[in-house]
Amino acid sequence: MKKLLPTSTAGSLPKPSWLAEPEKLWSPWKLQNTELADGKRDALRVALQEQSQSGIDIVSDGEQTRQHFVTTFIEHLDGVDFEKRETVKIRDRYDASVPTVVGPVSRPNSVFVEDAKFLRSQTDQPIKWALPGPMTMVDTLFDAHYKSRQKLAWEFAGILNQEAKELEAAGVDIIQFDEPAFNVFFDEVNEWGIACLERAIDGLNCETVVHICYGYGIKANTDWKKTLGSEWRQYQEVFPKLQQSNIDMISLECHNSHVPMELLELIRGKKVMVGAIDVATNIIETPEEVAATLRHALKYVDADKLYPCTNCGMAPLSREVARGKLNALKAGAEIVRRELAA
Ligand SMILES: [Zn+2]
Repeated sequence: MKKLLPTSTAGSLPKPSWLAEPEKLWSPWKLQNTELADGKRDALRVALQEQSQSGIDIVSDGEQTRQHFVTTFIEHLDGVDFEKRETVKIRDRYDASVPTVVGPVSRPNSVFVEDAKFLRSQTDQPIKWALPGPMTMVDTLFDAHYKSRQKLAWEFAGILNQEAKELEAAGVDIIQFDEPAFNVFFDEVNEWGIACLERAIDGLNCETVVHICYGYGIKANTDWKKTLGSEWRQYQEVFPKLQQSNIDMISLECHNSHVPMELLELIRGKKVMVGAIDVATNIIETPEEVAATLRHALKYVDADKLYPCTNCGMAPLSREVARGKLNALKAGAEIVRRELAA
């Protein structure tokens, strides 16, 4: 992008109350069949309009067409039985009832491509589309077939690559892979997680991002954060290898987190989506707070590689709070843009 400090969000935005119960994560749909299909597209239009009106430069669907950032993708795959459920510990943090991998996984049809085409038809701005990362997908399932996290992740990476290539052909400018699991399973990330990610982006010409955060502002995550101490150094475990990888951009949680900003030095040369909006609080940042986070990051990220962003998705927030945060992000980026131009 030619514009300095182009703004975007990490992913989800609140859904309208007529589509799903608001301020609730993974809230079930309120509509069915064609009404649901129409409702999702209408919600996408609203999410797009709110981003445009707030001056967000790189826009997304606000994840209006999906219920969950991982399972909605997996629902479209063969080899996974959603009736057969087991309880597993997700990201070593909380128990969840998850579907079971019962046979070879494959993608009979594209998953998000029609939605992405629709988004493309609605805007001339650059668009970003989020997919789950292979390691995070594996961590959200019970595997009774491959019996190897690495093997299953490798298969998912191939499937994600098929989807990503179709998204690129549909006009998506930036494809993002959500990998919160990268913040937990450091040995596996270095042994095979990043290799799987590189398989997922193989042959793409559009830009690619990996989003690594400390999660939505839900209790399991905020409780976990309390155990991490005063300095969160998780990123340093995976940054050296990510710096060497083919991924173009890294999307990180920075504002209100205890991540020492100097860790960004370890990924010098990569584009960085700097989380300058805390999604775990209803308090709306001031533009000056956003600017302070961006200035701090500029010590370690070249200005032409810095992309102001949110820490994570904003689905669980009220629409009013999310809108306020989008406006703050834009205004804070504008302050720093003016300083850089001076
Ligand atoms: Zn996130």
